[in-house]
Amino acid sequence: MNVLLLGSGGREHALAWKLAQSPLLTTLYAAPGNPGTARSAQLVTLDASDHPAVVDFARGHDIGLVVIGPEAPLVDGLADSLRAAGVSVFGPSKAAAQLEGSKGFTKDLCARAGIPTAGYLRVRSRDEADAAITTTFSLPVVIKADGLAAGKGVTIAYSREEADAALDRLFDGGEAEAVIEEFLSGEEASLFVLTDGEFFTSFGTAQDHKRVGDGDTGPNTGGMGAYSPAAVLTPELETRALAEIVAPTLAALREAGTPFQGVLYAGLMLTATGPKLIEYNARFGDPEAEVVLPRFQGDLLEVMLATAEGRLAELGPALFSTDAALTVVVAAQGYPGQPRTGGAIRGIDEAEATGAIVFQAGTREADGSLAASGGRVLAVTALAPTVTQAQAAAYRAVDLLDYPDGFHRRDIGWRAVERERT
Ligand code: ATP
Repeated sequence: MNVLLLGSGGREHALAWKLAQSPLLTTLYAAPGNPGTARSAQLVTLDASDHPAVVDFARGHDIGLVVIGPEAPLVDGLADSLRAAGVSVFGPSKAAAQLEGSKGFTKDLCARAGIPTAGYLRVRSRDEADAAITTTFSLPVVIKADGLAAGKGVTIAYSREEADAALDRLFDGGEAEAVIEEFLSGEEASLFVLTDGEFFTSFGTAQDHKRVGDGDTGPNTGGMGAYSPAAVLTPELETRALAEIVAPTLAALREAGTPFQGVLYAGLMLTATGPKLIEYNARFGDPEAEVVLPRFQGDLLEVMLATAEGRLAELGPALFSTDAALTVVVAAQGYPGQPRTGGAIRGIDEAEATGAIVFQAGTREADGSLAASGGRVLAVTALAPTVTQAQAAAYRAVDLLDYPDGFHRRDIGWRAVERERT
């Protein structure tokens, strides 16, 4: 079967790497992909926002499944356009992708279905926001832009001044929509679920590191590293999260006539009273995909096809290696601000000779050599029986890279390593 994979990041390199292991695969096309994806796929130029062009490509190349990696094309309804044209697709409809595309939509759904999450108010003007903060919430308070903001739309305000500054930014241009939320304390963990709309199956857990600096300091990023499984999400807590959060969400979407098909990523806060939902994403996380997929022991194409075709119940539960996986993101100096692009990258073969996998994100090939083209450049993944060992193995590989313009955190996995020490 021919497969078309959309996206260009480390997540898509991990998807391509795993899809390429499937005996069901004939040709994998990736649009636009990157030099890492190109090791497993034929790169093609296609604009994911041009739905007729994607449909034409799928028809013209006998594509049996389109896999949509990032959120923007999902929220934009690409899966609907493909399904309407009779093309199988892994990824939710525009209506179901609202779980990621609109924080207000998700909070309202949680309220209706009694799903544990932070208390909230939706506000549509600066005055409403001021009133909410003055009368309903105590500090710290969480302020979120309603729509997609690539992780940059959330402020945790510890003072009224910080709250005002965030609201100034949000309502700068006049009209805007925001969600004001109660602050939750606890440890965060991510839970992945595959669902065909009716049936769902757990697809691994992970913890990521959002802050740019060691010790979880500095500005937020798309993610500087991750590991899987997240031991803090014990089997008991995972069962609770599936029953109290995931199942009622999927039921609510089904009842609304907009079932969710694809991978649902639940960002959870493990509070003193149990798991609470922080956010949903409608796709794999990046860099979480780089740790979850290497641990998956099944045939990714088979489960994605079953998800797309409503046959997930026919397959058994997804099986994962008992090994831990840990990935270290190597970013270009300047990230998450303006990254310094163009820096030469060498040493990938040496790093991979250790047994690690070097997934590529912001890279490009020029004159036969590899250079950085974006903020997050590489994600170096290692597997080992414990997170402590996987951490050591990942850094052994990172240290063999020769990329003077890059930087990385040295403490990815610290929570799990501390836990394993005791
Ligand atoms: P991303 O997609 O990058 O994960 P996002 O913009 O979709 O982020 P959220 O995931 O909702 O936004 O929030 C980003 C981060 O802010 C969370 O990972 C969490 O650390 C923190 N956060 C969000 N909501 C709360 C809350 N109610 N209480 C405490 N912390 C929160």
